[in-house]
Amino acid sequence: MQFMFGRRGNDELNVCLIIVALVLGFVIIFFRVFGLYLVYRIIYSVQLVLIILFFVRFLSKNILQRQKENDAFLRFIAKFKKNKKDDFNTVYTNDPTKKNKNYKYFKCPNCSVKLRVPKGKGKITITCPKCRTSFKGKS
Ligand SMILES: [Zn+2]
Repeated sequence: MQFMFGRRGNDELNVCLIIVALVLGFVIIFFRVFGLYLVYRIIYSVQLVLIILFFVRFLSKNILQRQKENDAFLRFIAKFKKNKKDDFNTVYTNDPTKKNKNYKYFKCPNCSVKLRVPKGKGKITITCPKCRTSFKGKS
């Protein structure tokens, strides 16, 4: 407890660093087995850097700076997650004549706005981006 006093300990970024380092630890075994020593050395170096970063951050007393790094990391992850989710998002369609066979078209039961969702997602809950009404549909 004395040791950890004033230190930040683990945060999301550190957990990610150590997980990536562990995964790389498994991956390099294969490169070693197959005799790809150059790739093995490169990955080994990356792994070493990750582990050093982990310990530097873990033992750091500059909490503010570590917090900033972690926040930046969380923002980066959130952005990535949002982009992925957007693929399935319901979108308005202003021009119903330009129908794309990759999409299924719906009409919002509340505000009658035309919506489209990607086809082939099965039974889904569609949320109208305009009035936030949710209804079920099959895409
Ligand atoms: Zn609506």
